Formats: sequence, structure tokens, C-alpha cells
Amino acid sequence: MEAFTVDDIPLIKPGDDIAAIICQRVGLEDGDVLVIASTIIAKAENELFSLDNITPSARAIGIGKKDGKDPRLVQAVLDRCSECFVESPVMLVQSDRAHVCINSGVDDSNVENDLLADLPRDADASARIIGERVEEITGCRVAVVVTDTNGRAFRLGQTGVAIGLYHATPIYYWRGKKDLFGYEMQISEEAVADEVAAAANLLMGEGSGGNPVVVVRGTSLFTGGKTSACQLYRPDNMDIIKKALRIFKES
Ligand code: GDP
Ligand code: MN
Ligand code: MN
Ligand code: MN
Repeated sequence: MEAFTVDDIPLIKPGDDIAAIICQRVGLEDGDVLVIASTIIAKAENELFSLDNITPSARAIGIGKKDGKDPRLVQAVLDRCSECFVESPVMLVQSDRAHVCINSGVDDSNVENDLLADLPRDADASARIIGERVEEITGCRVAVVVTDTNGRAFRLGQTGVAIGLYHATPIYYWRGKKDLFGYEMQISEEAVADEVAAAANLLMGEGSGGNPVVVVRGTSLFTGGKTSACQLYRPDNMDIIKKALRIFKES
């Protein structure tokens, strides 16, 4: 496997054609995986907002006071989630646009003019539009993985995760395959799209690197069929961590 950044990507503006910008800067091959940071997709899709016009509720003011946060940011997070699992000291929520994450995915890093970036409205759709456009420009069949930086339960530090997929396998199922000693595996599922997202994030970094796009070559992630990042989200009724968080919240 080989992974490299696409260099000289400009600061992305609303309306920019990310696929064309990428294709002008790199020679793609069939089966390549294009990994793209959600921040630049949010910019291109104009999913940016300012805190100026937000009026915080009493609840947002309360949380803000307790944790030293701008109550307007707290309100923006509350406005963008269907369920708040943990309110303080961090806001861990079910975002309307992706999975469980901190601050509804609202992100102020690497965005200009005091604006904040939302997650893309539908990151699978964003991935598909970019993937189809790349195919149209280059004739290459590529996979696209849209990433965001997420924290993890139990472990310190954040990694890149996949929040939008186009023609990229989310999970590799080892069930029925043999281990070293010939035993048939029963349950192992490998979240390959998240692994590729994390590897690409290593090249992106989180700061001023200016590397929002990584090409990952030489994996078997590309698939011709329809895929979705939702395939990486544990169904609500099978999620014991969410269940525990709800019990904790009630107590
Ligand atoms: P997120 O993980 O999607 O929230 O994205 P980050 O804010 O962590 O940024 C990932 C990478 O993209 C970093 O290397 C940033 O410097 C870079 N980046 C963010 N926005 C832009 C942009 O508009 N243009 C360029 N060239 N790089 C950007
Ligand atoms: Mn960011
Ligand atoms: Mn982010
Ligand atoms: Mn990041």
C-alpha cells in the first residue's frame, strides 16, 4: 500500500469543484482511494456559519457557564443533534449529520474569518458526487472516503474516521476465513474504511499542513457497488455503550 498527499491544494471556497482541483494536481489510477477531509467539503458546499446570529437558550448558557464555553457554540451543537449523551465537560452527541461525536462535528480549525464548519449534510452524497466527477474527468474508477477527526472511547487521542463513502468497502468480514492454525473465524470484522481514513489522516495532520487530500493506492478497498458510511455505525438497539450512557444520564 502506498499513500501520498495531493500537493498545492488552494484554500477551498464555496462552490469550488474539488474533483477538478484534485485531477489537475495528480495522475490517478483505477482502484485508487481518494481520501478527503470533511472540512474542505464543508467549505466547497458552503456549510459554514458564524456564531453572530445565534441566541443561546437558558440550557446553553448554563452549559457554557459551567464549562467556560461560548454559549452560542453550545447552542449550535444542541441545534445539530438528536440526542445529547454527555453534556459536560465535553458534549458527546448523536449528530444529525453523522454518528456519535463531540460537538456535533462543528469545527473551527482551519476555517477562515471566524466561521465554523459543519459536517457535510450528506457525506456519502458528497463522496459520490466527487467520485463520479473524477471518473468523468479522468476515466479512472476510484473510491472516495470522506474523513473527519474523531475521538475514541477508552483511548486517548483522535484519529481519522470515514464519514462518507463512494465505491469504498466499509468493513471486511473475516467470518468463514481460516486463521494461522486452520480454525474458521466466527466474528472478526475489520473496519477497513476507518483504517484507511486513519492512515490518510496521518499525512493530513490537524494543523497548518494544508493537506486535505490523500491518495491511497494498492488496497482492495475499491468496489464497484454502492457503499455507505452508515454501514460503519452500530445499529442503535445493538449499541450497549449508548444504552449505558442513557442509564448514566437518567441517574
Ligand atoms: P477535518 O479532520 O476534516 O476537521 O480537517 P482538519 O481541519 O483536521 O484539516 C485536515 C487537513 O486539511 C490539514 O492539513 C489542514 O491544514 C488542511 N486543510 C483544511 N482546509 C484546507 C483548505 O481549504 N485548503 C488546503 N490546502 N488545506 C486545508
Ligand atoms: Mn477542521
Ligand atoms: Mn473536523
Ligand atoms: Mn482533522
